[in-house]
Amino acid sequence: MHRENLFALTIFSLMAFCYEIGASQLGAVQPSMAEPTATPAVAPSKASYSSCRVDGPYIAMTFDDGPHPILTPRLLDMLKVRGIKATFFLIGQNAAEYPDIVRRMAAEGHEIGNHTWSHPQLTKLNPAALREEIDRTSSTIAEIVGKPVLIMRPPYGATSDYINHWINREFGMKVILWSVDPLDWKYRNSARVERQILAGARPGAIILSHDIHATTVAAMPDVFDSLLAKGYKFVTVSELIAMDEAVRRMQQGEAGTSAGAQ
Ligand SMILES: [Zn+2]
Repeated sequence: MHRENLFALTIFSLMAFCYEIGASQLGAVQPSMAEPTATPAVAPSKASYSSCRVDGPYIAMTFDDGPHPILTPRLLDMLKVRGIKATFFLIGQNAAEYPDIVRRMAAEGHEIGNHTWSHPQLTKLNPAALREEIDRTSSTIAEIVGKPVLIMRPPYGATSDYINHWINREFGMKVILWSVDPLDWKYRNSARVERQILAGARPGAIILSHDIHATTVAAMPDVFDSLLAKGYKFVTVSELIAMDEAVRRMQQGEAGTSAGAQ
């Protein structure tokens, strides 16, 4: 590296560092203006995912808004007999109301994510309310299952790059969206839910559904059996992300090797 470049980079790093210090002292919730312009040697890990890059037929089923006292246990039975792992994005106040169902999810190997305390649109909250919605939910779930929550899904998918990075930085959680949306909350029709999910399924897909609707849960046995028959393997969202990161590392390794050979 040229000396001038090194000098510029050092100054830049110092400026970025000072900016961070300044922002944290102010407690400011503002977009960082000091985004690095140089390509780092290793790409930073992503703050949000709507699907993942995988090297096999892996897929993640996700269920939002529960637990529901009747439908969620019914869904857990369906998952159990098939040996399928899913991911549940829980509303904090529902988790607090049905802790036994939350414990069962964790005991049976499913992943549990944060879906806020009361399902507001994150983009409309002030920073204090945003923090409260997320913090209270993660604490409640962690207290019930005895381990930290690593993923969160914004209600309605309403978020921004800034909010995603803030959640990532403040809570150590990845923000999870989806690549397949059967609109099961809107069309309460099991056949339609099944058709839309099967049409959208791809390796690396994150499939959205809601275990608070009877029509959705009723669709699941056929959805699971059809996807299994097509050779799909169900994993949790965090497992899917780990696969994505492995693929990224491999691709970066290959890029590094070919650059070094020139
Ligand atoms: Zn929701």
